[in-house]
Amino acid sequence: MIKAVGYAAKNAHDKLGRFEFQREEPGASDIQIEVLYCGVCHSDIHQVKNEWKNTVYPCLPGHEVVGRVTRTGTSVTTFKPGDIVGVGCMIDSCRTCDPCQHGEENYCEGPNSWLATYNGPMVPAKKAPTGENMYGRDNTFGGYSTVLVVNEDFVLAIPAGLAPDAAAPILCAGVTTYSPMKHWGVKAGDKVGVVGLGGLGHLAVKIAVALGAEVTVFTTSKDKEDDAVMLGAEHVLVEDDKKALKPLKGTFDFILSTVPESHDVNPFVALLKRDKTLVVVGALEPLKPVNNMEAAAHRKSVAGSMIGSIAETAEVLAFCAEHGIAPEIELIDIEAVNDAYKRIERGDVRFRYVINMASLRA
Ligand SMILES: [Zn+2]
Ligand SMILES: [Zn+2]
Repeated sequence: MIKAVGYAAKNAHDKLGRFEFQREEPGASDIQIEVLYCGVCHSDIHQVKNEWKNTVYPCLPGHEVVGRVTRTGTSVTTFKPGDIVGVGCMIDSCRTCDPCQHGEENYCEGPNSWLATYNGPMVPAKKAPTGENMYGRDNTFGGYSTVLVVNEDFVLAIPAGLAPDAAAPILCAGVTTYSPMKHWGVKAGDKVGVVGLGGLGHLAVKIAVALGAEVTVFTTSKDKEDDAVMLGAEHVLVEDDKKALKPLKGTFDFILSTVPESHDVNPFVALLKRDKTLVVVGALEPLKPVNNMEAAAHRKSVAGSMIGSIAETAEVLAFCAEHGIAPEIELIDIEAVNDAYKRIERGDVRFRYVINMASLRA
C-alpha cells in the first residue's frame, strides 16, 4: 500500500481537514501520480455538504488533477515517469455498454455507471439493478491528496503549451463546457449566450470566442461586466434586465447555462432562434418548469450535458493549448480551502481556485 495524505470531510457539517489514508499499489495498467495541483470545482462543495444526497464519507474531493507520473504498471505504454498528466472526473467505466463502446464513458450505462474520481461509482451498489458494485469500491478519494493511482485509459497528457496549474480546471470545467458546444455544433459566426460567469462560465466564454462565436454573457452582477469583456465577450447583460433582453428574443444559436443551482431558464429559452438549444451544465437538480408554449412554438430544446468523454478531454486540452486559452486561476495552499469554499458560495472568486499540493506535503 502507498501512504497518502489528503484533505477530507467526515460528515456534511465538517470542514475539510488533514486525512491520512492508503492507496492501492498500481496494478499492471495503472499509473501512480504525484499530485501537483488540483482545481476547486463547485461540485466539490455540493458533494462535501451532501447537497446531492449521495455523498459517501469520508469525502475527499478533487477532480481537476494535474500531477507527475512517478511509477507505471508493467503493461503501461502510454506514459512514463516524469510525464505531466491530468485526471478529470472519471477514473473508470464499465467499458462494455453502448456509450462506452462509442467513446462516451461519461454516459456509461453499466450497472454502476462510471467510477468517479471521488465519491465512488455514480450508481452505488444499493441503487444498482444488480445490487452490486462492479468496481469493488464504494468510495474513492480524489485529488486533494498527495498521490493518485489511476488506470492509464483515464489519464490525460497535459500538452507542453499549458501551464500545469492553469491546466487543472480544463479537466472538469473546460470539458464540461466544450463538450456541449461541440455536440450542438457551435461554429464561427454563431450567437452564443453564456449564463453565469464563474468557473464554468468563464471558460465557456473563452472557448466559444476561440470557436469564432459572438458571445453574450448573462450575469446577475453588473460588476462582472469588465471581466466578461476581458474574457472576450462582446455583450454583457444583467439577467433580470427585461428591457435589455426583449429585443434579443429569437436571436441566439446556442445558450449554455452554467448556474450551479436550480434556476429559471425561461427568459433564456425565449432568446433562442427556432430549432436551437439551451444546455444546462451547472445545475444537476430540478429546474423551474419550462414554459412549453415557447419551446413548442419555435421547436426549441432545453437539454442537459454531463462533463465530457476522455477523448473530448484530450481534445479540449489540445484546443486550449492551440488557442492559448488558460483558465483564470488563483493558486491557494490546502489550508485555505475551507475559506475558498465560502468565497465560491458567495460568488467571490476570479475564477477558479487551484490548490498547490506542495502545501500538503510541507
Ligand atoms: Zn467539477
Ligand atoms: Zn459503460
